[in-house]
Amino acid sequence: MSETTIFDKILAKEIPADVVYEDDAVLAFKDINPQAPTHILVIPKKRIPGYADLLAESDAFVGDYMKKVAKVAQELGLNGDGYRIVFNYGKNGQQTVNHIHAHILGGRGMSWPPG
Ligand code: AMP
Repeated sequence: MSETTIFDKILAKEIPADVVYEDDAVLAFKDINPQAPTHILVIPKKRIPGYADLLAESDAFVGDYMKKVAKVAQELGLNGDGYRIVFNYGKNGQQTVNHIHAHILGGRGMSWPPG
């Protein structure tokens, strides 16, 4: 069993979050420290530590999760100007919460390469 994280508390409604989308499989909420005018985190309700752990999940699960990220971005009105999806993983990726989360960043132009 993977570790409990702050996102489990958000899923359990033990701490508040500004939720923008929820269904049986995922929760999407505003990042508490936004790095763009729109900064949303999309997490699966199933506790999966990080991106590399998706290898242990079914294609159907992963496909559904990725499509939900696209659906949330669309519902936020970001398709026109575009957006960036980020999955930080592990030490070098500077992942700080070990419950997989897609960052949806939008509302401004992004630079490349990332820091
Ligand atoms: P990462 O560094 O990729 O693991 O991203 C974790 C993200 O979670 C950071 O952008 C944090 O600002 C965000 N975060 C941490 N705690 C909360 C919280 N309670 N509500 C919303 N976002 C949070």
